[in-house]
Amino acid sequence: MIIVLKENALKKDIDELKTFLEKQNVKVSSIEGTETTVLGLVGDTSHVDVDTILLSDIVDKVMKVSEPYKRANRSFHPENTVIELGNGVKIGENRIVMMAGPCAVENEEQLMTIAKGVKKSGASLLRGGAFKPRSSPYAFQGLKSEGLVLLKQAKEMTGLPIVSEITNQHYVELFNDYVDVIQVGARNMQNFELLKELGKTDKPILLKRGFANTMEELLMSAEYIMSSGNEKVILCERGIRTSETYTRNTLDISAVPVLKRKSHLPVIVDPSHAAGTYWLVEPLALAAVAAGCDGLIVEVHNDPKVALSDGAQSLTLEHFEKLMDHARGVALSVNRSF
Ligand code: PEP
Ligand code: MN
Repeated sequence: MIIVLKENALKKDIDELKTFLEKQNVKVSSIEGTETTVLGLVGDTSHVDVDTILLSDIVDKVMKVSEPYKRANRSFHPENTVIELGNGVKIGENRIVMMAGPCAVENEEQLMTIAKGVKKSGASLLRGGAFKPRSSPYAFQGLKSEGLVLLKQAKEMTGLPIVSEITNQHYVELFNDYVDVIQVGARNMQNFELLKELGKTDKPILLKRGFANTMEELLMSAEYIMSSGNEKVILCERGIRTSETYTRNTLDISAVPVLKRKSHLPVIVDPSHAAGTYWLVEPLALAAVAAGCDGLIVEVHNDPKVALSDGAQSLTLEHFEKLMDHARGVALSVNRSF
């Protein structure tokens, strides 16, 4: 971090500022020019608050030269992180991982039909929401723990590991017993109490980007989980809110190469919540594969017209099979596979 001081700064005020900074465990070296003095901060500056420094009357500007996230940062961990699930599925390797299933678990027949179908087409994980954070309190809220029981049953039947969304830090123990990957939804990306609690489990966490959050904020949320003890974080781009109205969200495809460059964590893409309509899911998914994602998470329903949540963006099992086929082709062209 570099602090540029104002021209008329007095020595006594500069010394006072240096003492204040040194108390925060950083080394301060000053470069005195003919007109201005510049302070350079060395060490872990992640806890140094820029806005507080700017309160000082002698400070002109503050420039950050390193990112505030350390554990998620590729500079400190050049190798890709590979997250292994118990049954041999690895996320973050050359092989791209497909996660598929309904938005919400609705009943046994629905879930088992979808689980069998997506497995047949080549999915490696089954997704399904049991606790649904809906925008309307009147919309279907999910089967809750009964949904988790059904997901476990689907895993027993297909062998597919389960990914499901948690909505509250008090459910961590419950999720530990029932799921293989715990999903944090876009609406909870900055639920810091939840993130800290998830730092105490050793389950992989699928962390979705909030619809109004920057990539740096996403990485800082990953940092919350990692600094609390759990390094197994999967980043997920799922579309952000822009002025566009023809799509549900705008898929920020640049998030894939940017996050892969900034961080060593696996990056996956959810084309379904970006699209909002089923016919847009495949082109977005293929673009994500071409851009270098490590996985996809896609909503699939055996009968989208009667789905209790997100039917419009759900692929049928036939659409899903076609998507897998086309995605394999794109993966090959970028030297990857499914
Ligand atoms: C979901 O995966 O069903 C979901 C609610 O996603 P998001 O948090 O991205 O809106
Ligand atoms: Mn959904």
